[in-house]
Amino acid sequence: MQHNTKIAVFLVPTLFFYIIFTTISLLPWYTGLCLAAAEFFGMHHVVTKVLLDAPPSSTAVTGSPYFAGIIFGSLFFVGWEWVTVLVRSTPGYAVTNLCFGFCFLLCCYNFFRSVTLDPGACPKPADEAELKSIIEELASEGRLNGQTFCVVCMARKPLRSKHCRVCDRCTARFDHHCPWVWNCVGVSNHRQFIMFILSLVLGVICFNYLVYAYFSHNVPSDAVPAASCILPTTLCSWTSQKPFLTAVSIWASLQLLWTSILLLAQLWQVTKQVTTLEVSNLSRFGFMGGRGTSALGQEGLTHPKQGQHMMGDDEPNPDGIGGHPSASAPGQRQHSKSSTAFILQLLGLDRLTAKSNRRALAHSSPNSNPFDQGVWRNCLDFWTTGRELGVEYGSLYDVPSDGFAKKPGEENGRWKGKGRKGGYEPVQAEEV
Ligand SMILES: [Zn+2]
Ligand SMILES: [Zn+2]
Repeated sequence: MQHNTKIAVFLVPTLFFYIIFTTISLLPWYTGLCLAAAEFFGMHHVVTKVLLDAPPSSTAVTGSPYFAGIIFGSLFFVGWEWVTVLVRSTPGYAVTNLCFGFCFLLCCYNFFRSVTLDPGACPKPADEAELKSIIEELASEGRLNGQTFCVVCMARKPLRSKHCRVCDRCTARFDHHCPWVWNCVGVSNHRQFIMFILSLVLGVICFNYLVYAYFSHNVPSDAVPAASCILPTTLCSWTSQKPFLTAVSIWASLQLLWTSILLLAQLWQVTKQVTTLEVSNLSRFGFMGGRGTSALGQEGLTHPKQGQHMMGDDEPNPDGIGGHPSASAPGQRQHSKSSTAFILQLLGLDRLTAKSNRRALAHSSPNSNPFDQGVWRNCLDFWTTGRELGVEYGSLYDVPSDGFAKKPGEENGRWKGKGRKGGYEPVQAEEV
């Protein structure tokens, strides 16, 4: 993709948002909303057909800065309305204004960092000789397959990593490819990603509260609402006073629902020390496709289905999940996907709706995840990008045979597979 096309794709949503919000503010609601919807599809058409010339769910679109541009445009207008209208007209709400300003800056900063940070580089062999020795070593151990070796990067795959087809690289502790931040979410930008969603959710709540405060203090009670308005009279007179602000506030509120669900899901995953990819693969392959059972277990394939993962195969779920439409192979499979499924995937909510995943989560035993060290240490490990467990996720190829660093006095080897229901028992190499 050309540099100029990228810039255009990134900025088009901001331009269209201006047109859409202005349309809603100038026209009566029934024509305004219809025209705004048409303009929204117009924006989508301009980006997908004119600028990118690709099907809407293809890698070309989801791997472009289009969705990040939507976030940028939304942030821009929310910030604009705050500076030009809200902050000056809500003098009695200093704390809320401060909170909003703080959340807004935090959101912008973490959005920028999520986009620009390397999500988690995995080292590649320096030369042919090193590559050869890696392949020979894996082959002699009988575990040269798509889970231990990436044939695209021609490099060893760390535990919990995945090759992202959009970014065309392996990402350490891969969570998902997120079109909204135009990047993979991996070990090195996951914290920024969660801070971004957290500040977004809190910021929108503050913003809506300020909008409410603005309307209840600044609109004269005798303001005459438009005759066509079907809302209660008070709401009509409010919205007719500042329709642009109302439109921005409604747009921001629409984002609140799915980002809140995403945030809760992400926080829950952090406390469980699982990634979005692992949750989505749990029902089919167990934690890390069975790689996480123990050092012993790694020698063999512990899940019957794993046998099918031969060289060249990617991870158990090549699509990844959670805002991850782009990682699918472009082609037939994509077109057979319904638009509802595509939208759920784009919003990162698809895994929550899959019954098999919920069942697997309910039955999965803590022993099946060697990284799970309890809520507090899981959170610390997440925040310190692996320092709590003493792990470099970019070059972690095996679970240590004696487990991860434990605090003094803690029971050793808690994670070692006891083979409870849903867990994955370590399998002796000769059994496979
Ligand atoms: Zn790779
Ligand atoms: Zn990616």
